[in-house]
Amino acid sequence: MNARRSAPVRTALVWFRRDLRLTDNPALRHALEHAERVVPVYVHSPDDEHPWAPGAASRWWLHHSLTALDASLRKIGSRLVVQRGEASTVLRHCIRETGATLVCWNKLYEPAALKRDARIAAALDDDGVSVEQSNAALLFEPGTILNGQKLPYRVFTPFWRTAETQLSTLPVPSRAPRRLPRAPRGLSGIGIDDLALLPKIRWDDGLTQTWTPGEAGALKQLRQFSKHVASYPTGRDRPDRAETSRLSPHLHFGEIGPRQIVAALRHSNTAAAQAKGTDSYLRQIGWREFAHHLLFHFPETTDAPLDKRFAKQKWRRSASDLRAWQRGATGIPLVDAGMRELWRTGWMHNRIRMIAASVLTKNLQIHWLQGAQWFWETLVDADLANNTLGWQWVAGCGADAAPYYRIFNPVLQAKRFDPVRSYIRHWVPELARLPDRWIHQPWAAPEAVLQRAGVVFDKTYPRPVLDLGESRKRALQVYSQLR
Ligand SMILES: Cc1cc2nc3c(=O)[nH]c(=O)nc-3n(C[C@H](O)[C@H](O)[C@H](O)COP(=O)(O)OP(=O)(O)OC[C@H]3O[C@@H](n4cnc5c(N)ncnc54)[C@H](O)[C@@H]3O)c2cc1C
Repeated sequence: MNARRSAPVRTALVWFRRDLRLTDNPALRHALEHAERVVPVYVHSPDDEHPWAPGAASRWWLHHSLTALDASLRKIGSRLVVQRGEASTVLRHCIRETGATLVCWNKLYEPAALKRDARIAAALDDDGVSVEQSNAALLFEPGTILNGQKLPYRVFTPFWRTAETQLSTLPVPSRAPRRLPRAPRGLSGIGIDDLALLPKIRWDDGLTQTWTPGEAGALKQLRQFSKHVASYPTGRDRPDRAETSRLSPHLHFGEIGPRQIVAALRHSNTAAAQAKGTDSYLRQIGWREFAHHLLFHFPETTDAPLDKRFAKQKWRRSASDLRAWQRGATGIPLVDAGMRELWRTGWMHNRIRMIAASVLTKNLQIHWLQGAQWFWETLVDADLANNTLGWQWVAGCGADAAPYYRIFNPVLQAKRFDPVRSYIRHWVPELARLPDRWIHQPWAAPEAVLQRAGVVFDKTYPRPVLDLGESRKRALQVYSQLR
């Protein structure tokens, strides 16, 4: 906020970024409270986010989310002005065109965005334009949840214990405006289609069938999830059942904010089982919060390990193994199921993310960044903070990381978390006729069983790219040298 804010404002720009919603949008609310005219603007500037500009699946989501936001704005009398280019140049152009004296935005906390926004805020201030920056993405501003020594937490449980006590102090989410002043005519801008966010070769059928990007889709998803939150603590580890909220892409694009989720779940779920489910669920929202706070404090971790002992780790390079992993052709059914789910739907269940990442980084000894980059390209919820935390956690080099000796065994994990093997059968149909006893480890099945099920190695389904037992031993050796 700056001092000139108190002067009467005729026109304000609301710079939408990853807060693509009308409900509980503090930047929009501030503009409405302080200006006669409000111009909603979106500036597509992927170069500003280099090297983590949105991947293909994120671009698909963004296209549909912007379309949904524009439709919502039109329903209440306005529209989204879409522009492309370096953000500060474009914003200054919009300011000249509209005569705006106030620009409002909701903060992003990734390293590149923080630097860019600070630069833009200073430049606008020099131009005599007021800037209002708000928090819509997180429960608490990074830097406000600190330990006794005023340092950032590096372990989740004490972080969340501190944060949880402050949940009751969160502001009540604000309602969506019913009406917006009409955006001035004749403003320059381009169509959402002109951003060319959709793939040229249409591989996005699975995404279209799975998701409804946009604020309405997010709110509907939350309402549905809220009805069965009581079963979340027991169901959340089951990839074969739709027990988790699947709100991750909606949260990433800010179609819903975490404060809305806290308010909605705490308000409607007062019975004991629901309250337990809500606590367990909010703990996961806490992990998201932890990831963002960590990235704020340790911006170098997007490509360097938080635990510096791991900086000297030697990784294997194998283009063919990496490709087999990416394509869901490792010959390890649970991993292949997950990687195919990711390719088809842009999403993968958390437990399978952990298992697939463990196989890549520990059994195959391929650098976690290679996995993080593939997820970045293919996940609709690709999120720099969560992805960095997830990969470093599995690789053992991050905050509160899985200990180095924790190497997921995909066979045991399949027995435990896909008990009737329906997840594997769905995503790896070429193994569907194998009996439960063998489907998660076809390499161990007797020849006659394979024949009856129509499985021919390297013809209908690949032989495993590694021996799980041997590769586990190798990984343990590598990690013990790093200690
Ligand atoms: C290797 C790896 C990479 C990951 N990459 C991403 C990513 O790019 N984007 C992403 O949003 N999540 C990522 N996660 C975390 C997690 O897998 C997803 O958030 C979750 O699967 C999303 O599904 P959901 O919305 O149904 O989750 P729910 O179980 O319903 O959880 C609710 C919300 O809490 C947050 N959350 C849940 N688990 C975590 C977690 N472990 N870390 C941080 N936030 C969490 C998410 O915002 C999620 O939407 C990754 C995890 C791993 C192990």
